[in-house]
Amino acid sequence: MYSLRKRRLLSTENDKTEKENQKTSWNQHRTDTGKHEKENARRPKVYEDKKQTDKEKEKGRKEIHKNQEKKQMKWRTNIEQLFMDMGINVAGPGDRHHQEGWLNIPCPFCTGNPGNHLGWKESEDYFNCYRCGFHSHVQVLTTLFNIDEAKARDMIKQYQDNLHVPDWNKKKKAQAKHILLPSQCGPLRKAHKQYLRKRGFDPKQLVDEWDLQGTGIIGPYKFRIIAPIYHKNQLVSYQGRDITNRSKLKYKACPIEKEIRHHKHCLYGLDHALKDKTVVVVEGITDVWRLGKGAVSTFGINFMDQQLELLTEFDCVWILYDREPLAQNMASKMRDRLRTEGVNARTVNLKRKGDPAQLSPQEAQTLMKYLLNTRRPQPVV
Ligand SMILES: [Zn+2]
Repeated sequence: MYSLRKRRLLSTENDKTEKENQKTSWNQHRTDTGKHEKENARRPKVYEDKKQTDKEKEKGRKEIHKNQEKKQMKWRTNIEQLFMDMGINVAGPGDRHHQEGWLNIPCPFCTGNPGNHLGWKESEDYFNCYRCGFHSHVQVLTTLFNIDEAKARDMIKQYQDNLHVPDWNKKKKAQAKHILLPSQCGPLRKAHKQYLRKRGFDPKQLVDEWDLQGTGIIGPYKFRIIAPIYHKNQLVSYQGRDITNRSKLKYKACPIEKEIRHHKHCLYGLDHALKDKTVVVVEGITDVWRLGKGAVSTFGINFMDQQLELLTEFDCVWILYDREPLAQNMASKMRDRLRTEGVNARTVNLKRKGDPAQLSPQEAQTLMKYLLNTRRPQPVV
């Protein structure tokens, strides 16, 4: 989620620039007409500039007028603020079905594979689900919050906002100066430790190696293990893993504008891995927890160029994605891209179904020992 404050800040900055522009042209105007007429005669260019300025001013005025008209027409429901206030988590970059210009959440109307199928289109203010289609605001709010229609209408009224389109569509950027972990974040509690032990992890070891923390029972990140994400020894973001297995979002990342560096531009575990020239790339952070130091995660199979760039720092890259076809497809793509960069990259599969996190600690140790010590694997065709 990105904050309205940012948008306000942006518009204030725009206003400021506009004012400054006005000030400059006003000063210019004074200089042009008032003082040195003789000098101006020798400087026709200044007059030209002035004429241009007047023309531009007129154009600007028309533009502002047009925008105001547009603005007045564009009264919309500020669903983003509404979701934020109601504690609804929206899909962030890297989450399933996340799309620029849309806010996506799990659809409350249909069932099937988990994901964030229901989207609200920001610029046009309507809801649509990939699977079950269009839904009115009232339908969405009544279903989502279990309220009656009158209440939903009231809510919509409260969140009517005349949102300015260009700012609204502005691309979100990681721009935080420091990272604030989710509220109630602290040492792992009983429930977190139980979850980890159930999955065959040693909580103490994970806390020592990965600085894991846990959240409490309230807030948008409730019931999650928080994995801080470090990049070159700086805490730049975090990801939360659901421990109830009931949340529709297994992993929930830090909102992009609260990140110092976008987590999809990082590799989880990079700092540990950089101590070696060989690295093992896996999908998720739990895979890294299992394989230990020397493994890095791309936070899902959709890797980004920035992540590839980081991988080129290694001589040898093993790509160990899940065995399902889509993941294998991405693994091959990554291998080929890395090879064009001169990196000795190779894909590798687990013999049995499941992800690396499902290996036993002993199996994981044996596998890593083999992979990290086989520095020059033969390329596969
Ligand atoms: Zn649906």
